Amino acid sequence: MHTIIPPDRRRFLQLACVGVAAAVVPLHARAAAHVLPALPWAENALDPVISAQTIGFHYGKHHKGYVDNLNRLVTGTPLADASLEEIVRATAGKADQAAIFNNAAQVWNHTFYWKSLRPGGGGKPGAALAQAIDASFGSFEAFRKEFAQVTVSQFGSGWGWLVNAGGTLKIVKTGNAETPLTQGMTPLLTIDVWEHAYYIDYQNRRADYVNAVLDRLVDWGFAEDNLGRG
Ligand code: MN
Repeated sequence: MHTIIPPDRRRFLQLACVGVAAAVVPLHARAAAHVLPALPWAENALDPVISAQTIGFHYGKHHKGYVDNLNRLVTGTPLADASLEEIVRATAGKADQAAIFNNAAQVWNHTFYWKSLRPGGGGKPGAALAQAIDASFGSFEAFRKEFAQVTVSQFGSGWGWLVNAGGTLKIVKTGNAETPLTQGMTPLLTIDVWEHAYYIDYQNRRADYVNAVLDRLVDWGFAEDNLGRG
């Protein structure tokens, strides 16, 4: 049996429902809407240094997974409407927010990693960055050696970074999702050394992966842009 509600009464009921919803549901209960950013190049563009299969899993499964987890974790919390960078900064170092920090920072780190790479990259940096590298490390060769050594030596999962630390360039490594963003440094470039970044293509040969990325993929232009910002 159907109950016929006259149109004017129906409209009143709809508005009443909206009014109740607006009154009892706080703003931050809306679903968080962080999105997986598009890759800056095609999935097979870094082949053979990094295969399309690796990018397919790394971007399509791992990076996407961090985005999905983050949306799930912050929906309904005071961080629901915060930007990604605000979430990373607000949760860093807080044990009770570790799950949110880990996923947010991994979203940020991976987006930064993709931008750190480009097909036909590697080689030598442009003049402004080369000058800063010489001033901080003595020579490009010394810098290149330290970047590889520090990054390869990260124990377990993590990241190698070129950063601007108050006007001096430094190479640092971070474990798991940790990021120099929350440590008073401006990241210029990163290399992911979680095994998912290289295991399909290099298995246990992390040094071969790091050296190939440095020589053939790193986007010095991106690093120089970040130097200008920091
Ligand atoms: Mn990764």
